[in-house]
Amino acid sequence: MSEFDVDLFVIGAGSGGVRAARIAASYGAKVMIAEEYRVGGTCVIRGCVPKKLMVYASRFADDFHDAAGFGWNVGEPSFDWATLIRNKDKEIDRLEGIYRTNLEKSGVEIINSRAVIEDAHTVHVLKTGARIRARYILVAVGAHPTMEPAIPAGELGITSNEVFHLETLPKRVIVVGGGYIAVEFAGVFAGLGSEVTLIHRGDKLLRGFDEDIRDALGEAYAQRGINLALKKTVTRLDKNADGIAATLSDGSIVTVDQVLVATGRRPNTKGLGLEKAGIMVDEVGAIPVDAYSRTLIPSIYAVGDVTNRANLTPIAIREGHAFADTVFGGKPTMVDHDLIPTAVFSTPEIGVIGCGEEAARASYGDIDVYKTAFRPMKATLSGGSERVLMKLIVDKATDKVVGVHVMGHDAGEMIQLAGIAVTMGATKADFDRTVAVHPTAAEELVTMRSPVVVKKPVAVG
Ligand code: NDP
Repeated sequence: MSEFDVDLFVIGAGSGGVRAARIAASYGAKVMIAEEYRVGGTCVIRGCVPKKLMVYASRFADDFHDAAGFGWNVGEPSFDWATLIRNKDKEIDRLEGIYRTNLEKSGVEIINSRAVIEDAHTVHVLKTGARIRARYILVAVGAHPTMEPAIPAGELGITSNEVFHLETLPKRVIVVGGGYIAVEFAGVFAGLGSEVTLIHRGDKLLRGFDEDIRDALGEAYAQRGINLALKKTVTRLDKNADGIAATLSDGSIVTVDQVLVATGRRPNTKGLGLEKAGIMVDEVGAIPVDAYSRTLIPSIYAVGDVTNRANLTPIAIREGHAFADTVFGGKPTMVDHDLIPTAVFSTPEIGVIGCGEEAARASYGDIDVYKTAFRPMKATLSGGSERVLMKLIVDKATDKVVGVHVMGHDAGEMIQLAGIAVTMGATKADFDRTVAVHPTAAEELVTMRSPVVVKKPVAVG
């Protein structure tokens, strides 16, 4: 008999763990997967999926408004938070069921318990006390939102874990942070009619994105009535008769009904027993791995947010799949973490692949920048003030398009398709010879002809 109970024990049934388990099982491996919360992980249960449903809900306000210019009279719309949350929960239950069924159909045994590592080949299932010997262990436990930095009475605030289960829509809400989650939820609450104050320590939102996109989002959010409190932090929270009073670093006080803290996420590595197996985490608690997602211990691998590489669902899925191909499929596979298309579901939406202008200048030196900003066709009759921004960054030496940046309706959908071209190494000439689809907003991506003239510094002396 084998010295192992299973070929693979996966800890964490989120995007990465589930994919790895199913693919490994398809190669004939005996697989167990442990999950202490709900199958589906952050993305399905309290991340991408419920968030996108809430984003959809928030955008109807614009649609009702826009409809009038096209002749519709929709009366006075009203919104019911409880209905949204109930329907969203039903959909999440349905998806969780599908995840469970798919695992079972693949022959993967699901263990509904927390599991911790005891040594390089042993996992302790806390609920039953069982100790499972596994040929390989895959850690796919994800990450959790932080409430950092800790501030007095910070516990009065909530994170993105709780935001999906609020009993009522807050009339007034503070969102702390300027990253993906803060920006997306500020947009959701504003669309649903809350009074939103977005407090961010930086001078612009979305650090790391192209500066034009950052500027345009700031302008769009201000125009949508979001109160942007930039270069400020929250120093304390206090409960009073009127709600939660947040004291800001400039001494001002903003009183609201909810405070959503979205200042980043940390890997779920505490108490996982990694050190017992000889694995040391890095300064943020992430598990260091090689290009095949292998830790320093040859029998233990890790994928997804717990490794803090690119913290995105499709990347966790790829890493999980590549792990299974490598270890059980006889096809050593690395995951390319360059050129990741991504979308921010703010309103207006943002889609990006490749470098921003500043980063491209640093990497490639000589670049051409093509830029257009326009009022989308729909806004002509609706009277809406929204703008679309598009930007292409081209490496002059090779003519390759090394960055595409879009802000506007359906930017996420656009960037998925533009991403194919960029991933294939398309040149600006390829974009130019692509026939435009008219009338669309996306056609501007293939009709920009004149690069922006960049003023060169004048040589003195
Ligand atoms: P991000 O890292 O995107 O943003 C964190 C924000 O919090 C930044 O604006 C950061 O400011 C700020 N911050 C960090 N520390 C402090 C502090 N001590 N005091 C004040 N502000 C602070 O994290 P999120 O939580 O928004 O999202 C986590 C990850 O989840 C993202 O990186 C992304 O990978 C993923 N995600 C992806 C989505 C998508 O694909 N659409 C949607 C949601 C999440 P600064 O910029 O100055 O560092």
